This record gives sequence, structure tokens and C-alpha cells, in this order.
Amino acid sequence: MVVGRFAPSPSGRIHLGNILCCLLAWLSARQQGGRVVLRIEDLDTARCPRRYADQMEADLHWLGLDWDDGPGKEGGHGPYYQSQRTSRYRAALERLEAMGMVYPCFCTRAELHAASAPHREDGQVLYPGTCRDLTAAQAAERARQTGRSPALRLRVPDREISFTDGHMGPYSEYLPRDCGDFLLCRSDGMFAYQLAVVVDDAAMGVTEVVRGADLLASTPRQLLLYDLLGLSAPRFFHFPLLLAADGRRLSKRDADAGLEVLHDRATAAEILGKLAYLAGFNPSARPQTAEALLQDFAWDKVPQSDIRIPEGLF
Ligand code: GLU
Repeated sequence: MVVGRFAPSPSGRIHLGNILCCLLAWLSARQQGGRVVLRIEDLDTARCPRRYADQMEADLHWLGLDWDDGPGKEGGHGPYYQSQRTSRYRAALERLEAMGMVYPCFCTRAELHAASAPHREDGQVLYPGTCRDLTAAQAAERARQTGRSPALRLRVPDREISFTDGHMGPYSEYLPRDCGDFLLCRSDGMFAYQLAVVVDDAAMGVTEVVRGADLLASTPRQLLLYDLLGLSAPRFFHFPLLLAADGRRLSKRDADAGLEVLHDRATAAEILGKLAYLAGFNPSARPQTAEALLQDFAWDKVPQSDIRIPEGLF
């Protein structure tokens, strides 16, 4: 049984990028007769208050993108809000700690940027390993000196992780060079997305993950965690990003790409039809319901390179 999912972080009103993500995840799962899970990724509770999640659920209903397991649809895998699942992340972290894979890190973000460490492909700093080999006594001394509680990092093994993305094809990273030791828990106690997403997708029985290509470079880290935690990994499908007419990545500043504006301007079928047209599986920009798009959707129609939204389309 195929199980797909939407895992939005509700830090504002849903926008065209999230809508395309949910549409593709929904179509891919439903076309195979699969189930859909909705999980709200609100680990950062300050940025993702509950009212945004409620609005997102209402917007998905309006768009006709339904789920079988998630908020309001108890399917046996709840709670569906990451903010309510922290005991599960703590248990996974403890397993990794017991394997000797975790160490405390006292470096601040500012220190890391100042150290001019090399940057990963996704723009994040490659951790230079400053705290990797601290003894327990040295770590205690650092805690005393800095007065900070440490973040926790995963000690990446000397391994190459390769996989074949269902849409983008082969991808691989040599962990020490391309990835580096990554955060599992921030110094303020917030669990990292990489850990939470793996724990939850596995616990919720997800077999296919559909998401934007900006997360392709996160996948080796997640595959490593699946492996270390003895969990079976889903298949991954990364789709190209939507760009504004001038080629910039869509952001919150593009208010007219958000449902706040679009909701009053267009019907759900108009929005989905235009997105499906941009993503290659609606022959014209004509309105289409999600249900009707099931007939035309195929991964090989979707482009691999970023998609520019033409001026005035929405
Ligand atoms: N919550 C993430 C986001 O909204 C998506 C995570 C995922 O699909 O793995 O960007």
C-alpha cells in the first residue's frame, strides 16, 4: 500500500509552492490507489502558531486535496502536530546517543559563519568539527566557560550515501566532505527537522515522500538516520521549484502567490489547473479539479528544472 504525505510548516498562509507540493503528493499517491497523511511540521512553535495550521487545513479542504490520516481524520498515527511529538524525537536521539553517534556542540551560528567554513550546496555551513572530539571534561569546561547549553550534532560516518530520486534521478553525497556533522537538536532544545521528519515518516508508515528540490540535499542525511535507527526509508520524489516571473525564488514577499490574495481572485480549479499546466500535466491553463487531474498526471511530464511563473498568469 502506497502512503504519501503532506508535511507543511505553517508559518503563514499557504502559497503556490506548497500547493504544488500538496497537489503532486496527492496525485502521486492517489493515482496508485494510495493513502495520504497530513502532518503539521510546527516544531518551531513561535513561527508556526496553531491558527496558521488551522487555516492551512481549511485551505487544503477548499482546494479539494483531502487526507485519510491527519488532523480531523484520526487514522491511528497521531498526534499529527510535530509540536506534540517531541517524546518520540527524544527517544530516537537517545538511541543515537547510546550508539556514540551524538556529541554536544557549543559553537554559535555567528562563530560558524565567522570561521569561514566551506558551505554546502544548499547554502548551509559545513560544520568544521570544532567540538567533535571534546572529552567529557572538556565539554563540561566549555559549558562552564560559555554559560551555554550545547546543541547536539550527529557524528557522520565516513560513508557515501547514494540513492535514486523518483524524479530527479541519481544523487549522492560523501558525508564527511559534502554534508558534515549535522544538528539533531538546537541549543534551545528544539529538535531538528532532519530528525523529526525521519521519525515521523517512519512512524506514520509513509512510503513515498514528494517535496521541493530544495530538500534534495537533505535526503542523504535523512537516509543515514533511517539506517542508523533501523527504519525503512520511503521513496523520494523531488520536484522543481516555482520561481517568480523575474527568476527569484518565491517567498513570503510575493503576496500575490499566497492564498490570502488568490482565494478572492480565483477558484480552486483555476489555481490547480494553472499549476498543473506549469508542471506539464495540463495541456492548457484551463481549470481542473484535483480529481480530474488524476487522469493526466505522470511524473515524466513534470520538468526537472525550475519553473518560472509567467507574469500575470495568476
Ligand atoms: N515541512 C517542510 C516544509 O514545509 C517539508 C518537509 C518535507 O517535505 O520533508 O518545507
